[in-house]
Amino acid sequence: MAFKRGNLEKQVLEIPKEVYWCKRCVISNQRPRNIIDDNGICSGCLNTDYKNNKIDWEKREKELEQLLDKHRRTDGYWDVIVPSSGGKDSGFVAHKLKYEYGMNPLLVTWSPLQYTDIGIQNFRNLCESGFLNIKCTPNGKIHRKLARLSFEEFGDAFHVFVLGQVYFPIQMAVKFNIDLIFYGENGEVEYAGDPQAVDKPYMDMLKNKDWIKGYLKGTTLDELLEYAYREKDYISKDEFSEADLTFYRPPSADEMRSKGISRVYYYNYFYKWTPQENYYYCVDNTGFKPNPERTEGTYSKYASLDDKMDGFHYYLRYIKFGLGRCMEDVAHEIRDGHITREEGLALMQRYEGEFPKKYFNDFLNYLDITEDHFWDVVDSWRAPHLWHKVKGKWQLKHPIS
Ligand SMILES: [Zn+2]
Repeated sequence: MAFKRGNLEKQVLEIPKEVYWCKRCVISNQRPRNIIDDNGICSGCLNTDYKNNKIDWEKREKELEQLLDKHRRTDGYWDVIVPSSGGKDSGFVAHKLKYEYGMNPLLVTWSPLQYTDIGIQNFRNLCESGFLNIKCTPNGKIHRKLARLSFEEFGDAFHVFVLGQVYFPIQMAVKFNIDLIFYGENGEVEYAGDPQAVDKPYMDMLKNKDWIKGYLKGTTLDELLEYAYREKDYISKDEFSEADLTFYRPPSADEMRSKGISRVYYYNYFYKWTPQENYYYCVDNTGFKPNPERTEGTYSKYASLDDKMDGFHYYLRYIKFGLGRCMEDVAHEIRDGHITREEGLALMQRYEGEFPKKYFNDFLNYLDITEDHFWDVVDSWRAPHLWHKVKGKWQLKHPIS
């Protein structure tokens, strides 16, 4: 029986029904908010041109120094929060802020759903390299149910991680009175998205409510829960304690306003962002280790390694938008000049859309669902303009060529 869901994931409804691919990299207009211009070039590639030719990086570094001078403390207390689960990008930012700019970062971690061995090892190595960390491990019973709900209603179990990743650091900033928060890159700028995000060093959580709503799939946690209490027999209001839901939500606007804490800064505004260089930097400085084997769905060994569940985030994105994990790596490596488009296409031919089977059982067990239910939900996310069945097998209607 086909799985039925509400229309809570709003961004899929806004995806153009005609598919265009960028002529320079390997992304299409199906990525939410990505625009492919009249010359057939995507926002991500245009941003690369802008980074390479227009931005005065020395001036941007001065802006960074001025910002840090304004926030740097001399009493030994933390002066900046860096959200991190131990990966190469946040490790790079934290290490630079501490050892190059003399800041005193507090690392804040919203725990992955299920750490991989390499993920927990890299996380510990990062702390070993000189950082204090506060980690939140959410209530497992609630978290699993929210993950299942997010998988079914948003096509992305990982959404519960994203909520905490966005809100837990700002909750900690308010709690500990630390008025500077630094993320690595704004994915919207670096990996093709809303062109309006370019040239913005920070996002203000108080002023950009629509932006946040857009990013969080168009439906707030409370709207999702209200729906779930009504429609889902595996979730009941009694077992969802309000306190345990705290970090899935932002602090109140009054709290943020009174403490002057609502901005989150992006390091990629101040520094020319190259993921591969962050990787080399962290190998040298924070004890970062790549995976011994390539990540399923792609060819790389060093990006997004922390969570056993995260292969399904990429797989479902492939189902929803026809854009998989290999595309992600290939697109930015073409833009960064590491590979050609032809090499990228060959890699995609091999790995794009590969099913993440290694942790499939972990995923099913974590969400407490059957394999049949998994596929029912997956198939419910296949947009008719993207997928059709050929000889009984699902195929993309407009693959990249
Ligand atoms: Zn492009």
